[in-house]
Amino acid sequence: MFHVIVAKAERYKNLINGQWEESSSEKTFGSINPANKEEVVGVFQASTKEDVKRAIESADRAFESWAATAPSKRAAILDKAAQYLIDHADQFAEELTREEGKPVNAARGEVIRSAQTLKYYAVEGQSHSGETFPQDDPDMDVSTRLEPLGVISVITPWNFPLSIPARKIAPALITGNTVVFKPSSETPLVAYRLVEALVHGGLPQGVLNFVTGHSSDIGDSLVDHPAVKAVTFTGSTGAGERIQRNVSFDTRTQMELGGKNPLIVMEDADIELAAKLTVNGGFNLSGQACTGTSRVIVMKEVKEKFLKALLDKTKSLKMGSGFEEGVMICPLASEKQLKNVLKYIDIGKQEGASLLYGGEHVEEGDFSKGYYVSPTIFTDVTPSMRIAQEEIFGPVIAVIEASSYEEAVRIANGVEYGLSASIVTTNLKTAQRFTRDIKAGTVKVNRTTTGNLMNAPFGGIKKSSTSTFRESGRAGLDFFTQIKTVYVGY
Ligand code: NAD
Repeated sequence: MFHVIVAKAERYKNLINGQWEESSSEKTFGSINPANKEEVVGVFQASTKEDVKRAIESADRAFESWAATAPSKRAAILDKAAQYLIDHADQFAEELTREEGKPVNAARGEVIRSAQTLKYYAVEGQSHSGETFPQDDPDMDVSTRLEPLGVISVITPWNFPLSIPARKIAPALITGNTVVFKPSSETPLVAYRLVEALVHGGLPQGVLNFVTGHSSDIGDSLVDHPAVKAVTFTGSTGAGERIQRNVSFDTRTQMELGGKNPLIVMEDADIELAAKLTVNGGFNLSGQACTGTSRVIVMKEVKEKFLKALLDKTKSLKMGSGFEEGVMICPLASEKQLKNVLKYIDIGKQEGASLLYGGEHVEEGDFSKGYYVSPTIFTDVTPSMRIAQEEIFGPVIAVIEASSYEEAVRIANGVEYGLSASIVTTNLKTAQRFTRDIKAGTVKVNRTTTGNLMNAPFGGIKKSSTSTFRESGRAGLDFFTQIKTVYVGY
């Protein structure tokens, strides 16, 4: 059963200087339900450079007063916004599923986690402080103050359209910065709900501005304005590189980018566990997680046993709209996603990898309304194949054979990305060695490559991140403040 079609899509506006307003372009675009491409979930402003400029200027004007606002007042606003998300969790989860496609339970989890993130930073942000330094002069104190930067551009992707903006906007606001927020054009509605929650929380006008639109129209103007002191971006490595080239040297950047995350299965692994972690890490959300498992590097002696367990589990996965019970293979988020994933499946076949399972664009019956691809397993993959090197961002797993731990780690590290990696082993020494040898920002043992705690640092290395500042946890506050060193003699 697919979800009921909504009769007429509502129109949503930008928020600039505390006013909800239409774009000067007088143009709009629709947010489409990927489980039913005939359903327009909402209609949003196709903003112009001029709209963005006004949003940045409004944030700039609001900065001084917001930076001087008591931290406890800023925290109270985040708390109230968090409660608003909790109170509307069912509605916002349903909207998230209609707009992005993920199973509604996962969507609800994302709404709640976003509320928790606001609450977490309401507390942590109030104790984010400087240091005092011992020195020789008895008539002097030396300390550091942490000060906000100014206007922050927040640019986010569609795959976690609420929780990623929440983990950027909450630490930005609690430390006294003002924000211009541009969400992905695939998922503007849930982003709008976060803004609505913060406005309901009592944010003064201009402190948070919201502009929707296409990056080809407004991408550059979001980052190259001199008032923008920092850009926090999550998205593809290609877009991140372009932004990095566009910003001035004194604009701080935080880029959380793509991944090609490996899971190594050692000969001593619990094979059932390895198969379960592969399925959950690789196919959950139809593989559309930046930390999703896309390469499985398996020891030769257990390969057949592992593939059998993996195949059994994969065959039992349910595909359907996010509103159906027990679905893991949800639709891909957009037509662009569908085309890209199918392109890589073709590339895998042409490169000579063996298609063990899946690889189809599923179009029977109601599936024809959405963007469905069956869970796909390629074996006989060699490390240099494109399907073993490039991010696919869909339900496609490349299985690569290795003959030793050293070879497995060499293959795991032999890509340009370094976001997340995991090993399945019962050998403590191998596990420990792996945490040192692997080049990734997040390393796991006997756990999925996916998932990260709200209170622990998160980010990648190599082309998965600018590696400047981490997101999440206390470390997530550092990006939004600068250090002033103060010498006071008396
Ligand atoms: P994307 O790069 O296409 O877009 C991300 C956002 O950037 C969107 O809002 C888009 O409109 C905007 N954008 C694109 N080009 C821009 C430009 N030149 N200037 C300014 N803004 C620009 O990515 P996507 O398809 O939305 O998301 C999928 C990608 O995000 C994958 O590569 C995935 O790995 C990555 N991702 C990374 C993390 C992480 O934490 N490392 C988390 C989630 C997703």
